[in-house]
Amino acid sequence: MNNVLYLVVPCYNEEAVLVQTAEALLDKYREMTASAQISPHSRILFVDDGSADATWQIITMLSGQYPAVMGLKLSRNRGHQNALFAGMMYAREHCDMMISIDADLQDDVEALSAFVEKYHEGCDIVYGVRSERKKDTFFKRATAQGFYRFMNLMGAETVYNHADYRLMSRRALEALSEYRETGLFLRGVVPLIGLRSDSVYYARRERAAGETKYPLKKMLNFALDGITSFSVKPLRLISVFGMLCSLLSVGGLLYALISYFFGYTVPGWTAITCSIWLLGGIQLLGIGVLGEYIGKIFSEVKQRPRYHIEAVVSHSQTETEKTKETENSTDRPLS
Ligand code: UDP
Ligand code: MG
Repeated sequence: MNNVLYLVVPCYNEEAVLVQTAEALLDKYREMTASAQISPHSRILFVDDGSADATWQIITMLSGQYPAVMGLKLSRNRGHQNALFAGMMYAREHCDMMISIDADLQDDVEALSAFVEKYHEGCDIVYGVRSERKKDTFFKRATAQGFYRFMNLMGAETVYNHADYRLMSRRALEALSEYRETGLFLRGVVPLIGLRSDSVYYARRERAAGETKYPLKKMLNFALDGITSFSVKPLRLISVFGMLCSLLSVGGLLYALISYFFGYTVPGWTAITCSIWLLGGIQLLGIGVLGEYIGKIFSEVKQRPRYHIEAVVSHSQTETEKTKETENSTDRPLS
């Protein structure tokens, strides 16, 4: 057994697209098993991230119909990154390699063979990089690209234009399981693992059906999480900014004194009001940044589990593991 591939597909309210996605993935699966690129023990693992629609029913139906399809149901919505992580940790115990792919068919299914080829060449991690994203709306494209640039500027190293379409070998998954942070940002954590890595390029498509589950608010949260989890640069910037302000204020003081001695006193109300606003703003910003990090410490020290698995379905058996904690169940108490 060294060709077992697990495809991990996080799904949140994806009833509109799921059947189409499963068909596309199954077609590719059949092609890859027929050419012996992957083992027939390979599986397509749909992770239901606490959907409120018929997503889980569809996954159950699909797994009853196709032996290659499996489902994992999280006990509630935990967000894309945690859903992915849950799937990855489940796959880790059964596979040789794992590829994560979104449920909306935006990532090119045909590229899967290229990932597996790289794995056979000896890579432990293969990043799917979007060579173009013409099909995204202007807004999505601009915000997403701004996001990558800003992240790198802020010191969180990520692979440019790579989202969560990636292959990881079992060894890389083992390494990933040792990262304990709760505010998970896989795009930042995975490059930290190291090991032999490469990229596969593909064109990003339009969502096959349904709506984006990443509205602007979620994207902003995601970016803030990424930056504050990976870099203390914002803290340092505040200090540098503070130093600059102090230097400037020495100049201002000299100017005020000289003006006073030469008798050019002016009413000065505007200048005072402006400086109060400006300094107040800078202070609040500084406190805000500090608060961000303290908030991080707050949520990390609790060491809460990232997810609970409510049920697992596969063609052969249906296990129901009510709120069974899969991860760190021995060393992390429920809090
Ligand atoms: N997703 C999830 N949990 C969430 C939000 C999204 O599992 O809370 C999944 C979603 O079903 C999809 C993937 O994450 O498979 C990416 O989401 P989406 O395609 O909506 O994001 P976009 O491509 O618009 O950034
Ligand atoms: Mg999408």
